[in-house]
Amino acid sequence: MITRRLFCGCIAGGLPFAATAAHAQSPECAVFTKDRQKSTTPDDAIARLKAGNERFVAGKSVNCDLMAQVKQTAGDQWPCAAIVGCIDSRVAPELVFDQHIGDVFCARVAGNIVDVDILGSLEYATKVAGAKAIVILGHNFCGAIKSAVDDVKLGNITALLRNFQPALATLTKADGHRDSHNDALVQKVAEANARLTAASVTRRSPVIKALVDAGQLKIAAAMHDVTTGKVTWLA
Ligand SMILES: [Zn+2]
Repeated sequence: MITRRLFCGCIAGGLPFAATAAHAQSPECAVFTKDRQKSTTPDDAIARLKAGNERFVAGKSVNCDLMAQVKQTAGDQWPCAAIVGCIDSRVAPELVFDQHIGDVFCARVAGNIVDVDILGSLEYATKVAGAKAIVILGHNFCGAIKSAVDDVKLGNITALLRNFQPALATLTKADGHRDSHNDALVQKVAEANARLTAASVTRRSPVIKALVDAGQLKIAAAMHDVTTGKVTWLA
């Protein structure tokens, strides 16, 4: 594998051997192949994302030769996971999980909701393309969640915010005044949204439910902290 990567790196990048050797030394830069994806379990896929976030938080993200990876994945893709994240500029999944070319599918939409188009995308990512895990990635101080809490009415945002009704329904009087300045309340809704969205996937997709029931796929919810970069996995 090392030999193959060195070969591809030199040919692809047109760089001297010494320049690509540093990239080739990191096993994290090995692109996913059909066999590697097949031998990856759902737990392996989740563990890979956890390890990637630990590197990110520690400031030790791997500096892969991306153009070498472009060449190596040009013919096909065998990603290990699919991530649904918010459009928020601070939560790019590939950066947060320290993933690279061909590693993960990413769907991004305000408030990391799953509508029919995202659901179809997840079916493609898993049933068709073989990804082993789905992660619904929420985050703190989310503008979409704040807007839902404040019941904003604006253009097509109004329709988008209807997706947060199940999460808003988890609020009780004990959560205090429903206002986006109530940080604890906003966080509760964001976490509920990630959990409920993750739980809704198998309920709404028999295709994905069959993969989960067969042990070929796991679905997880997680929260990214935009103040620390750390991802916390929700039970
Ligand atoms: Zn957001």
